[in-house]
Amino acid sequence: MTTAKDNASANISKTNSKVEVTAEILIDEQDCSHEEPCDSLKALLARHMRYELCRDDHDKHELFNALAQSVKEQMLDDWRQTRLKDNQYQQKQVAYLSLEFLMGRALGNALLSLDITEDAQQVLTEYATNLEHIEQVEHDAGLGNGGLGRLAACFLDSCASLDLPVTGYGIRYQYGMFVQKIIDGYQVERPDRWLRNGNPWEVRISNHIVSVPFYGHTETHSFKQGHRHHVLVNTQKVLAIPYDMPIPGYKNNRINTLRLWKAEANDDFDLAEFNEGDYAEAVATKNLAEQITMVLYPNDASVNGKELRLKQQYFLSSASLQDLLIRYVNKFGEDFSHFSELNVMQLNDTHPSIAVPELMRLLLDQYGLSWDAAWAITNQSMAYTNHTLLPEALERWSVPMMKNMLPRIVEIIFEINARYLELVAHHWPGDIQKLTEMSIIEEGGEQQVRMAYLAIVASFSVNGVAGLHTQLLKEGLFNNFYQLWPNKFNNKTNGVTPRRWLAFCNPKLSSLICSRLGNDWIKDLSRLKGLNDCISDKAFVKEWALVKFENKQSLTQFVRQQCGVEFDPKMMFDVQVKRIHEYKRQLMNILHVIHLYRRILNGDTQDMVPRCVLIGGKAAPGYAMAKQIIKLANNVAHMVNSDPLVTPYLRMAFIPNYNVSAMEEICPGTDLSEQISTAGKEASGTGNMKFMMNGALTIGTLDGANIEMLEEVGHENFFLFGLNASQVTQARMDYQPQHIIDHSPAFQGVMNMLESGHFNLVEPGIFDSIIASIIDPNDQWMTAADFDSYCQAQALVAKTYLDQDSWQEMSIKNTAASGRFSSDNTIAGYRDEIWMKK
Ligand SMILES: *Cc1c(COP(=O)(O)O)cnc(C)c1O
Repeated sequence: MTTAKDNASANISKTNSKVEVTAEILIDEQDCSHEEPCDSLKALLARHMRYELCRDDHDKHELFNALAQSVKEQMLDDWRQTRLKDNQYQQKQVAYLSLEFLMGRALGNALLSLDITEDAQQVLTEYATNLEHIEQVEHDAGLGNGGLGRLAACFLDSCASLDLPVTGYGIRYQYGMFVQKIIDGYQVERPDRWLRNGNPWEVRISNHIVSVPFYGHTETHSFKQGHRHHVLVNTQKVLAIPYDMPIPGYKNNRINTLRLWKAEANDDFDLAEFNEGDYAEAVATKNLAEQITMVLYPNDASVNGKELRLKQQYFLSSASLQDLLIRYVNKFGEDFSHFSELNVMQLNDTHPSIAVPELMRLLLDQYGLSWDAAWAITNQSMAYTNHTLLPEALERWSVPMMKNMLPRIVEIIFEINARYLELVAHHWPGDIQKLTEMSIIEEGGEQQVRMAYLAIVASFSVNGVAGLHTQLLKEGLFNNFYQLWPNKFNNKTNGVTPRRWLAFCNPKLSSLICSRLGNDWIKDLSRLKGLNDCISDKAFVKEWALVKFENKQSLTQFVRQQCGVEFDPKMMFDVQVKRIHEYKRQLMNILHVIHLYRRILNGDTQDMVPRCVLIGGKAAPGYAMAKQIIKLANNVAHMVNSDPLVTPYLRMAFIPNYNVSAMEEICPGTDLSEQISTAGKEASGTGNMKFMMNGALTIGTLDGANIEMLEEVGHENFFLFGLNASQVTQARMDYQPQHIIDHSPAFQGVMNMLESGHFNLVEPGIFDSIIASIIDPNDQWMTAADFDSYCQAQALVAKTYLDQDSWQEMSIKNTAASGRFSSDNTIAGYRDEIWMKK
């Protein structure tokens, strides 16, 4: 028994408690058989505790690390089997390219997928602790900003669970999404050194390192057949080191891979300097290369035009494509005629769209293909997902900047553009304006590359992320392209994984559901429809309400810990957590809180339903207005919570550092989910789906996936308000917010109170720009236009909540109707209509 274990451990190097894989690791079958998972987990854990700590005293951090290592080791065999199988190319391989993967914690999800949660719980009792306690130790992998990055994470889970050969490619940022502190009501950003205590899940793959070239210039050689060959010379090469993370499928033995690239300097740095004796200087410059993967840019729904950001994009794209090509060539040699049958790259927004010219460059310059052959392959293997209509989020890169950093890439982009514009000219003969409008290169001032256009031109599929969003893409932003290539466009409404967002994060609701429906819903969420049959069962409804109440008790504790505010689980929990952005209209929510606060102060509390309002989210550090909204939320919360006449009816908290782990606590304990963006601005939303799955009711506009949620659950179970997208467009033509305010006593009261400085007595003037934005006829987000309608919907919410029987029934119906929003469903769509489409 001991010898087998020792053999296994001998293969694992102890450096940094990471597994360095140069050869395949095999854990002895007997040790890790699926028949005795508890024994082997126990044995693995014991070995880690004994031999890696070299001590008998251990704390929860060491215990977490040892447990995570043990769980990873339990996956190694299946991980290897998955890799070997996929390397056979029996089916098309998918590369999901994304600058962001907002993974959160991995332990609980891995235990669930491997079906060893109970074993882990049992094993931990021997160390006088419990799983919940140890799970808390894990640092979130916060390698993303918000919805887009979390979508990538949900997709990886669904791909593995649907047994699809999909690899996620991303960047191993040393610093993830910043940690948000709230000091005196203001957001303060702190660095997120998530790797400080090591990452037990990752495996550095030393034999898959590739090299990414920057700068230099192109040399052209003519070949005898007349076609020319280009070589990049004098480049600065940066090593891309892959760190693999296991992505376990749900109880199906597939372990997919998330491959995250780290930048390191190569060793042939400046020899001239070296020879002059500046050895230390030369070594120090190596840091420049490593900066590429140092930090995630914290911008959500807006671009950052920094040179380093473009470097990150190219670094990810080039490393990932080289990896794919090497893998393909290992199997098929340099015959690329089957490449696009066997590979597809899904671009998560335009962030990795520089992969388009990079694939061309590799095929042309490295593998010697002709332009037409290379273009056919590129065009048949690239698919692009658009995530937003907001103009501030559409990426453009300066041509001069790109020319310097990526000279060959710019040549290729211009060639792609020239050939594509011929097609445009042919489609719209004599229409010069079309050429200017549709060119990949934006003229006028400094030339810019329009990355979305590049992605559309080169992709065989372009998808939006909800029905309305796709429709608006086709009618508006990309209408020209839609006319040229109607068949490229398709919709794939976002989804969220039911494993993390119901089975794992809400164990109480999960087991109640299992008690009636069995557990098939975890793999097939449409089965939640069966809950509708339970509504007539009084005992079930009572249990449903009790589970929500208990989850509210846990959330109450969480809010107390995180904000020092005392919630009361007997009150309604009204929650808006998401990135802070004007289009998401946290401001409107705060105005409604002020409205309720005034009512209470005025003694107008008849039929008022006591509520606890929770708001949370990070603002991009450079987004001044978003940061002021955070300050306003905190100041209003302070006034509300410090008046004992108010707190029986109303309490408010701003929860700092909203992230995946926080959402796992928040969504199970929410009664009312706020999804109140200006119609036409939220591409899909996914927070809305997590809340719905967990039995929250939604107050929302006809925006993004709200529309489809409403469609599933029915009007009578959804609190709809506000203008729809076309009404927003209409209303903008003659928008007079001051006029609207003047005709609404309630709204006037709220504005007067804000303007009086009631919430900023010691900091006069700090909310002036917020006030100005509300009454600005050019306010893009049209807060004033929807405010009264919002308040009416909120009054209906309160009225409905008073009748707890019908509220609970609506809650059950919401969960029952949430099956469509499983990311399994979304991924099945990507699989059938994009990736594997014949
Ligand atoms: C789901 C999620 C989001 C997306 O929320 P939206 O309400 O769709 O904007 C953002 N951040 C985190 C941490 C999430 O879990």
